[in-house]
Amino acid sequence: MMNSKQTFCGKTAEQLRLESPVFRAVEALQETVWINDKKVPFDEAAAQCPLTMDDVRDAEARLARFADYFRIAFPETAAAGGLIESPLREIPEMKAAMEKQYHVSIPGHVWMKMDSHLPISGSIKARGGIYEVLKTAEDIALKNGLLHEGDSYACFDSDEFRQLFSRYSIAVGSTGNLGLSIGIMSAKLGFKVTVHMSADARQWKKDMLRSKGVTVMEYESDYSVAVAQGRKDAEKDEYCHFVDDENSKTLFMGYSVAALRLKNQLAEAGITVDAQHPLMVYLPCGVGGGPGGVAFGLKMVFGDAVHCFFAEPTHSCCMMLGMATGLQNNISVQDIGVDNRTIADGLAVGRASGFVGKLMAPFMSGCYSLQDERMSALLALLADSEKVFLEPSALAGMYGPVLTVSDKGMKEYTETIAAPEKVTHLVWATGGSMVPPEEMDKYYRQGKVLL
Ligand SMILES: *Cc1c(COP(=O)(O)O)cnc(C)c1O
Repeated sequence: MMNSKQTFCGKTAEQLRLESPVFRAVEALQETVWINDKKVPFDEAAAQCPLTMDDVRDAEARLARFADYFRIAFPETAAAGGLIESPLREIPEMKAAMEKQYHVSIPGHVWMKMDSHLPISGSIKARGGIYEVLKTAEDIALKNGLLHEGDSYACFDSDEFRQLFSRYSIAVGSTGNLGLSIGIMSAKLGFKVTVHMSADARQWKKDMLRSKGVTVMEYESDYSVAVAQGRKDAEKDEYCHFVDDENSKTLFMGYSVAALRLKNQLAEAGITVDAQHPLMVYLPCGVGGGPGGVAFGLKMVFGDAVHCFFAEPTHSCCMMLGMATGLQNNISVQDIGVDNRTIADGLAVGRASGFVGKLMAPFMSGCYSLQDERMSALLALLADSEKVFLEPSALAGMYGPVLTVSDKGMKEYTETIAAPEKVTHLVWATGGSMVPPEEMDKYYRQGKVLL
């Protein structure tokens, strides 16, 4: 239970309870929608923001430089020209299944961005995580005079480069998927790599990493502790780069490139995004870097025509708690007696990134929380209707389109931005294609009994 004398930036829990309906709902583990009253018009938000479209373009260009390397080192990326990208698909069967399951009618079309099927590591972390390892490798190669402007990056797949990188190490703290991305990518380039895994991390992720020569440190405690330990170990070693999931601008920019790619995919699919045809995007959120980076890119690309929501489990809704109270990372769900235990292991984070919460405060449309049972049920519903299998975390976004008709606040928001039938709903499916079949079968059966 909470200590009644404890204060958060000078406020007691009693005060917060009175001021904030979200605080009360989080404490009571209730599913909640928070519409962001601090959101401002895009031009205004962008003018105050230290990051810009130039930063997104810079990250895009770096990934393009590495395309020659990926074509060789990861042939599964060759078809996409050496880019790590995922399909966009409409999910009409799932839309119909949700309408039936929740007794609603959802105007507009529902699409899914399948980062669950990104090559190399099968989750959204294949964007930011891999990007940060690449940037680190590029910096080291330049500093050591092994790389010159105009060189083909195919040279990264050579003994000379691997030899160089073997003198350096990379470390990261993770609930699983970030560790998978950083571990696979770093090991492939020749770095020594250590992944500090929280208690939530699945055994198969640890096994897979060890099979690739990655050092996996296991912790009994949650994500924040694993990150802190990794950060501490890395500080002692100047040849060690620590990937800081809570504060890294590099990670964030790596994720943001998704928006430029999505813009092309939407155009190819004949989907207009403008003031009359808004795009509503629902992003599963853990610490915030992945969904925050993607949302940032989307705002840079589509401005006021895109509306982004973070989706979190009721037991781990740290971003909603931080943003709605304005306390950001000065409060954790554990501080108010919530246990941060969820089947959505990728979202099992009790304290959000302060960097992301603050940066995204004027851009985000809101946050919502949902119960584990709902993610489970949606997992089975999606499998039955569209034959797509995702991990539980990736289903957090799926409930968004339902909430635009079933939740009063979210319905009002939707009706204010446009005629609801002109809205394109985009569910960001963040992971799942690498889950072993027997694990996936368990998830499916857990969900199926709830339908
Ligand atoms: C990491 C992860 C997220 C959330 O990303 P954060 O950067 O932690 O907010 C969502 N879904 C899956 C499957 C993930 O692995």
